[in-house]
Amino acid sequence: MATVAGVAVEPGHWIGGERVGAADAFEDVSPIGERPLAEIARGGPDAVDAAVTAARAAFPAWSRTSREERARLLHAIADGVDKRVEELAQVETADNGALIRSHRRGVMPRVAHNFRFFADWLLKLGHEDFDTRGHANHVSWDPAGVCALITPWNAPLMLATWKIAPALAAGNTVVLKPAEWTPLTASLLADITAEAGLPDGVFNVVQGYGAEVGGPLTAHPDVKRISFTGSVPTAKAIAAAAAPNLTPLSLELGGKSPLLVFADVDLDLAADLAVEQYDNAGQVCLAATRLLVESSVVGEFTERFLAKAAALRQGDPRDEATDIGPQIHRRHLERIDGFVRRAKDAGARALLGGGPNEELGGLYYRPTLLTGAPDGAEILTEEVFGPVLTLQTFDSEEQAIAIANGTRFGLAATLATGDPERARRVTAQLVAGTVWVNCFFVRDLRAPFGGARESGMGREGGDWSFDFYCDVKNTVTAP
Ligand code: NAD
Repeated sequence: MATVAGVAVEPGHWIGGERVGAADAFEDVSPIGERPLAEIARGGPDAVDAAVTAARAAFPAWSRTSREERARLLHAIADGVDKRVEELAQVETADNGALIRSHRRGVMPRVAHNFRFFADWLLKLGHEDFDTRGHANHVSWDPAGVCALITPWNAPLMLATWKIAPALAAGNTVVLKPAEWTPLTASLLADITAEAGLPDGVFNVVQGYGAEVGGPLTAHPDVKRISFTGSVPTAKAIAAAAAPNLTPLSLELGGKSPLLVFADVDLDLAADLAVEQYDNAGQVCLAATRLLVESSVVGEFTERFLAKAAALRQGDPRDEATDIGPQIHRRHLERIDGFVRRAKDAGARALLGGGPNEELGGLYYRPTLLTGAPDGAEILTEEVFGPVLTLQTFDSEEQAIAIANGTRFGLAATLATGDPERARRVTAQLVAGTVWVNCFFVRDLRAPFGGARESGMGREGGDWSFDFYCDVKNTVTAP
């Protein structure tokens, strides 16, 4: 047992309703001060097989459990999350370095909401009946089986429960593989599911490294769905592993999203939206990291942006007053800095930041704005996943759209414009799974969520989640 931020966390896997140790362990390190937090079980093919076997054994009974009972249990899990919001927030902040204030008031309440939302959605699902020349059609959503869920470190419990809740609601059993940089809150969630009375084997967690756990999990023939959130290269490895079994995939991947600022908008609003992109130290898949600004207002926009960005406080994420915490890991910080150095070598210059925060040391990277990168430069096309924004200008709507669509990604786009007609015209031409007009990060669980191009495959949210996690069946009965 490890103690993190005063909270007891089990370092083992969670398989078939029991804690399972491992011969090997890996060290989980906090981004705050880079201090060791816990020795975590390092899984491999045996642990994966044990978890899939447990999930498979639990499936028949769970899939036949009434919808009302499944919904009741998901509500009990949500209540358990609510009771432990502070503990979950403290542990998640220690583990991934994101702000305690957003964990307390945004993320952990949303984790509970994920369970409640999909429990309630389940009770409304499946009333599709229609008639074909006197024959009655009835559409039903049958659970698929064991679901493998693989998640990243930037919003660990929020992203995991966005998958776990609909998968369980649909009547499936689950094997979760959390990111190795943030294993802790998945372990606490296992405790919460047990306390809520979820039957053994319905929810399982295998800890460990990507290739060692994710590899055998995604190649396992008894896995019937794979839902993955993470990077494009890993998604390609998963797609290859899943191919021999034709296991259906849902992929939520990276982005290089634009924020288009038109001259007709309130520039304070536009600058606020731009500064918001530093949230979570820029480690947000949806972040609009490319600021595309109409030439006629770029001077005024930049002035307002820099004034607002100067007010951001960087520091310890456990302090409620902090706006920007550390990056997740030294390797990640170095990767971010590599992008910025190469951008400067290619001709970009920093209007803000441009390197690690030497005063704070550790894993703090200064919020950065780069301008002057040449067309096609890596910094304009590759996902950095850090507090690094680029500034480009445009002179016409057509040019703005062409630049916005000029990457291999298509996750999201944000428009800042005072003209609703323009918003409709431009939105229709943008390649993106989500478009925000004069707002950012407003997320409703009823809405489809996913990416175009290399930003993903499929959609989750509302009915889309149930479509993915179920074998949808149509039954036609003669008169
Ligand atoms: P990553 O791809 O390195 O890792 C994600 C998960 O995959 C981890 O649990 C990792 O252990 C596992 N993994 C690694 N190799 C594997 C393999 N061969 N087989 C199976 N699993 C394997 O991504 P990351 O660095 O943890 O997360 C950052 C990325 O996630 C960014 O690209 C970001 O944009 C993306 N992301 C996307 C969304 C979205 O909703 N679209 C949300 C958050 C993050």
